[in-house]
Amino acid sequence: EVVVRLTDVRKEYGDTTALAGVSLQIRAGEAVAVMGPSGCGKSTMLNMVAGLDRPSSGEVLVHGEDLGRLDEKGRALFRRHRIGMIFQFFNLLDDLPALDNVALAAQLVGVPARQARKRALELLDELGIADRRNIYPAALSGGERQRVAVARALMNRPALLLADEPTGALDSAAGEQVMDLLLDLNQIGQTLLLVTHDERLATRCASRLVELADGRVAGERSLERAA
Ligand code: ADP
Ligand code: ADP
Repeated sequence: EVVVRLTDVRKEYGDTTALAGVSLQIRAGEAVAVMGPSGCGKSTMLNMVAGLDRPSSGEVLVHGEDLGRLDEKGRALFRRHRIGMIFQFFNLLDDLPALDNVALAAQLVGVPARQARKRALELLDELGIADRRNIYPAALSGGERQRVAVARALMNRPALLLADEPTGALDSAAGEQVMDLLLDLNQIGQTLLLVTHDERLATRCASRLVELADGRVAGERSLERAA
């Protein structure tokens, strides 16, 4: 089963070519890391897959949906239901405690509050931070914030988990924990696409490495992961 299929995707911003014809397939259960220097198009590619932006040309298929054919509303709906995202700086809502940050993801797709909070608590428990459920993001450590963000991303059982520099703002111990978590999730079947500068993160978590340079795929290799 193919979860992501990019076919000759181009993206121009005025005179800048951010993506110059990228083709890439990700099958269910893969963990793909996209690496490359700043400005090579990583964020643009991630934004295409997340449906945050549309290609100038080419096709973006995610979980069978042609995102280029959906309008903004359709893409937002698709994203809420099928995509989980985590970010370098967590993007949690500061005025909600951990549990509510997580539960909200399901409430936004129509799950009743009670049921959403129940699943949110189960996820926080699985990620080892149930005892932090009533704490606001400002009082959580970086590692805890990222685990809350992972729980939120998993709430709606996404076909694809996207991660943009997920360890970029963490100290090395917290970064290790998040890497272990992503690896565990992939090993129980979660399809993963991560964008990073961090070679350690990529080689630890990914089953395949894709190198971008100047908006193109410059190389690809499979990785042997230590168990
Ligand atoms: P990376 O994530 O690898 O650093 P980006 O995808 O952010 O690369 O950027 C690729 C290129 O496209 C860069 O030259 C960047 O300045 C440009 N770019 C990205 N987004 C925009 C935008 N919204 N408007 C104009 N230029 C952009
Ligand atoms: P990173 O390299 O960590 O991905 P960037 O600073 O390249 O971060 O990009 C952050 C966001 O800003 C992205 O969503 C990207 O599309 C946007 N962006 C990047 N370059 C430009 C630009 N020249 N003009 C407008 N937006 C940009």
